[in-house]
Amino acid sequence: MIIIEKIADLQAYIKSKQVKSVGFVPTMGALHEGHISLVKQCVQENDLCVVSVFVNPTQFNDKNDLERYPRTPEADQALLRAAGCDIAFMPSVQEMYPEEDTRQFQFGALETVMEGKYRPGHFNGVAQIVSKLFDAVLPNKAYFGEKDFQQVAIIRDMVKQLQYPIEIIACPIIREESGLARSSRNTLLTDEQRKKAALIAQVLTKSTTFATNNTVAETIQWVNQQFTHDDEFRMDYYEIVDGNTLQPIDNWNDSDFVVGCIAIYLGKIRLIDNIHYKG
Ligand code: AMP
Repeated sequence: MIIIEKIADLQAYIKSKQVKSVGFVPTMGALHEGHISLVKQCVQENDLCVVSVFVNPTQFNDKNDLERYPRTPEADQALLRAAGCDIAFMPSVQEMYPEEDTRQFQFGALETVMEGKYRPGHFNGVAQIVSKLFDAVLPNKAYFGEKDFQQVAIIRDMVKQLQYPIEIIACPIIREESGLARSSRNTLLTDEQRKKAALIAQVLTKSTTFATNNTVAETIQWVNQQFTHDDEFRMDYYEIVDGNTLQPIDNWNDSDFVVGCIAIYLGKIRLIDNIHYKG
């Protein structure tokens, strides 16, 4: 595995390999098994696997969150090497943003809900960096985790808008033994909080049973209720949406693809997860 910091070097190296297919996994580092599952699939399906590790400042709407975000470059390199990655692209902020990126993307209704609503500017920052990375890597396929469910929809829309000839592949959520969705932010939880955090996935799973005999509104209310017994939990949102349009549904029959998406604080740490009810 080679580590590259400059876009020009990255492009020259990829070109020199003269491969048929380039696969790409964008990450913000502090890598865990969730990321590595994407990397392994990318390695398997392509001649060359490129993984970027870059904490993108433009997608953080909270300065403290950006400062707190874990950074473990050496461990990341070891994990990527072991997973069979060919190129670890680890640019500086200056390399990715030599000047301010003033582009404003429009994602319509996809960005007015959930993460888009609660983290203003977040998806614009995501689109800025992912488009820059796509331009640098020019991959045939790019891999994203379903953990960031709304992000996958936004990226697919961006690819359509900008007419990138890139296939977007959504990969399943990888979980800790407790069921907690793996996340770089999990390392910011205390041991006690990490145990408590298992409740999130437990409630989502149980809610699929609850949903069989109850309405959408009742299910949303039930999920909210499960987190009211512990002051450390603070719900940002729980929404049950059409998995394609991301718009809230009123009735289970409104769509064949129904997903419940949660964002919840545990202490100061904001965690997200989702579950499929249908589709
Ligand atoms: P991040 O480093 O958080 O920006 O994540 C990089 C990529 O890894 C994104 O496409 C995420 O959706 C994906 N990812 C993060 N955590 C998981 C997980 N637990 N399971 C599957 N994919 C994940």
